[in-house]
Amino acid sequence: MIVKCKSCGRRRKPAFFGSRHCSACRNDARRAAYAASPDSAKKRSALYRKQNPAKVRTALKAWREKHPEKARENLQRWRVRNRVRNSLANIKHRAKRAGMPFDLKPSDIVIPERCPVFGLKLRIGCGARSDASPSIDRLIPKRGYVRGNVRVISDLANRIKNTGTPRQHRLVADWLERELRKANRR
Ligand SMILES: [Zn+2]
Repeated sequence: MIVKCKSCGRRRKPAFFGSRHCSACRNDARRAAYAASPDSAKKRSALYRKQNPAKVRTALKAWREKHPEKARENLQRWRVRNRVRNSLANIKHRAKRAGMPFDLKPSDIVIPERCPVFGLKLRIGCGARSDASPSIDRLIPKRGYVRGNVRVISDLANRIKNTGTPRQHRLVADWLERELRKANRR
């Protein structure tokens, strides 16, 4: 079926059965409505999702099948965002109990591709916590989880760094080297 679109006048497939507009114009109108008032647009789509769960499920599934790459990316992004939000909530809880400053927002947390300490590739959202999981370190522990005082490094690096100062880490490294040398001599 082809209609003459009421918005652009082109003869195209209608956005849906019985529509007088083509899908491109319908999407434009949607985007414009969203830009004009995002809150009411969000409310409207939330209501629609609530009232038509089966339709939404089918449509989402169809979209995922049509765009498998994007679907995978979106899932990964969702996992990362939620992981960050989730761990910030946990950290905030612990910080509050310890009377430690906290003012972090998810947007403050930028996860680098590799651990800045060891260079290993950080693995996000792929199951269990591991040495390569990203971890939020407090540069100066007593300053707490505040903007500017946190860095994302690997869980391994963070466990080793802990609250140690550079001098303490050097002493530990020197001691370990000495002891290993002694042990290997035997
Ligand atoms: Zn049109």
